Amino acid sequence: MRNFIILVLFTLFLFFWLKRRLYKNLLNLHNYDLIKSEYDKLLSENKRFKEINSDLQNTLDSTIALYDITEQICKSLDADKVFSYFKEEINKYIRVRDCKFLKGEVDLSPYKDLASFPLKLGDRLIGYLVADGLKNQDKEKFYILSQQFLLGIKRAILYQDVQELAIIDSLTKVFNRRYYLERFKEELQRSRKFNYKFSCLMIDIDYFKDYNDRYGHIVGDAILKELAKTIQENIRQIDLMGRYGGEEFSLILSETDKEAVRFAAERIRQAIEDKRFRAYDEELKITVSIGISTFPFDGKDIKTLIDRADSALYRAKETGRNRVCIYENYK
Ligand code: GH3
Ligand code: MG
Ligand code: MG
Repeated sequence: MRNFIILVLFTLFLFFWLKRRLYKNLLNLHNYDLIKSEYDKLLSENKRFKEINSDLQNTLDSTIALYDITEQICKSLDADKVFSYFKEEINKYIRVRDCKFLKGEVDLSPYKDLASFPLKLGDRLIGYLVADGLKNQDKEKFYILSQQFLLGIKRAILYQDVQELAIIDSLTKVFNRRYYLERFKEELQRSRKFNYKFSCLMIDIDYFKDYNDRYGHIVGDAILKELAKTIQENIRQIDLMGRYGGEEFSLILSETDKEAVRFAAERIRQAIEDKRFRAYDEELKITVSIGISTFPFDGKDIKTLIDRADSALYRAKETGRNRVCIYENYK
């Protein structure tokens, strides 16, 4: 009997102990599911944060790259240099085989297989950026970059416009007097240094007041503009031309001595005499008188050279106009 009681007690004990263990395990199992689901949640959050982080990193990289490119291309105020900086920088950001900057309204048909991006300042078409080997997914980035490039070009163009305003005569598009005299000074220094000769021409329109009186100032201005163009067409690129006064132009013909200058001046005079200038439905003939002095024979400084070319011009006027007078001829 005693043994039986012990057995019953032991069995009861075993039963409760086992039950407790089982309950504990069940509890753990439940906790495990909870923890597992929490863990999965954290994993997916982690993945999402990694994605956000990588997006942010990409945006940061793009912003830094854009900043770098903008900084580089804004270093220069020369349109060609702006483009070469842009070309250097762009490959750090996206892959393109080649990139070209086509200026103005060009025919794009030779580039029809390449991606092209128009560059516009308001209504003014500056040109196109043409990219070879640009992947579709990079097109948007390239477009953004092209806008940064446009910023650089805009600065260069504005700078050029301001520069031109300061040195170019707005009517005749030749150098204004101030800038012409600055360049004259440079030419004088260069010629002194290398022992070059050069000639200074003063050109004045004959009886121009009469044209103004007869046809009005607007026609007079149009004649001045056309005349400046005709003179420019008859000199070399290295020669200098300035609007010295109202209807008076001055030229420096580089490395041109007394012998050579007569031919050059005659060519200019003849070209003007042969030209027909339009005034409403009339065709007008214009003539000019030209006075010349030569460095170093007639003077070694600007003032003397201009004064002497001027007195030669006066002589040309006195002796009948529509002619070339060289200073030494009547010294
Ligand atoms: P010449 O030189 O043969 O002695 O006679 P001219 O009538 O040409 O005399 P001058 O050279 O003194 O004339 C200057 C005239 O040029 C005065 C003015 O009517 C005209 N002129 C000067 N500047 C301008 C300009 O910017 N526009 C126009 N339309 N006329 C101008
Ligand atoms: Mg005059
Ligand atoms: Mg005159």
